[in-house]
Amino acid sequence: MNSTFVVLAGLLVIGLTYSPAKAKLSKHPVVLVVSFDGFRYDYLNKTDTPNLKELQRQGITVPHMVSQFPSNTFPNHQSIATGLTPDTHGVVDNTVRDPLLGKNLSGFNDDWEFWNYSPDVLPFYIRNELAGDERYSGCYMWAGSSTPYGANNEYRPKFFVAYNGSIPWPDRVDTVISWMTDPVHPTNMVFLYYNEPDSAGHSYGTDDNRTIEIIKQSDDRAGVLFQKLKEAEIYDLINIVIVSDHGMQTVTRDMLINTTAMIDRSLYERYGSTPVYHILPKNASDTDRIYDAFKAASYTNHFSVYRKEQLTHLKYSQNRRIMPILLLADPGYGFENINPNPNYGVHGYDPNFRNMSALFIAAGPLFKKGYVSQLPVNNIDLVPLFAKIMNVKNVPTEGTLERVELLLNASAGHFVTVLLIVVAQVLSHVL
Ligand SMILES: [Zn+2]
Repeated sequence: MNSTFVVLAGLLVIGLTYSPAKAKLSKHPVVLVVSFDGFRYDYLNKTDTPNLKELQRQGITVPHMVSQFPSNTFPNHQSIATGLTPDTHGVVDNTVRDPLLGKNLSGFNDDWEFWNYSPDVLPFYIRNELAGDERYSGCYMWAGSSTPYGANNEYRPKFFVAYNGSIPWPDRVDTVISWMTDPVHPTNMVFLYYNEPDSAGHSYGTDDNRTIEIIKQSDDRAGVLFQKLKEAEIYDLINIVIVSDHGMQTVTRDMLINTTAMIDRSLYERYGSTPVYHILPKNASDTDRIYDAFKAASYTNHFSVYRKEQLTHLKYSQNRRIMPILLLADPGYGFENINPNPNYGVHGYDPNFRNMSALFIAAGPLFKKGYVSQLPVNNIDLVPLFAKIMNVKNVPTEGTLERVELLLNASAGHFVTVLLIVVAQVLSHVL
């Protein structure tokens, strides 16, 4: 081959792959995780969702993503961020009783002890930075990201914004892009949260036109995000992972269960909300009596009763924050603490109930293109996936890479090598 031709071809390859925007990004692969709260896996087909479907066409389609029990917001955002089940990471519901601390803790209040359960539990946005070598993380309203972690509360992500529903969506996107293109600390790992369509799903149920309108609006917001990434000339360079934390189920007024009539309410403290009640007997000696009363009532009502040690099938039996007795409504049923008028949306049920399944879409340079997988993703598998992408070692997880590794584009890592060989050949001819 003519050496001049090789030089020109090499320069062409270099020219095609050089982008001024790329220089602004982290030297590590960049992953942007976006959570649309309560976006049930099949909402994509409830109305027009062209932006999310286009991303799916560009990248990965899976049947759905499996959540952890209980299929509630804070436990699952923490599972997505840590790769651990609630039994291990300690965020066992949206509000909890911690007997060791002697406190009631709430994720809604951002109680730091609610999130920082143990020094061994660190979200991946912290582990990413601890791996060093100019790895930086950013979290925008991501549940649990605005309180510190570590034995001495010493860890926070480089960038974070606490929950504030009044900030317009385009401003949120601009901030996230500014983190990824920060001239001094460009982030390689970003988590962005949006509270819909969960709120609409709760208010109106899953099939109401108002909920469907908000599903469409969520897709529009994804479109704004993609457009702004394109304008910043980084859309093709980053890996976008769209997720939700759980699904949603409509409950009607005739599906309510009144638990307060089953046994004297003054005998126990109750935590949690439909469809999961955590029962703490005021006197431990009453535990059997309370369990037996609920058990008897469960034969003629649509709920199940468990002792803590009976929940191993849901990986929910070890944590100190799990109470001695748990009531779980059957799918489609609710307890008396909600007011369906006439409909209400509920999640929190057994994650194996399909309507609790969440959304997962991924696209970008590291993911296969137009790949349709028949295997569901489990949300505790995301951290092993991120750890592999970012080359962060020794990340403890209860998830497995095996279920998600097949989504990665095996040739993505080879491209740089091939390019370097071309460049080396060009230089050998020039020099
Ligand atoms: Zn949620």
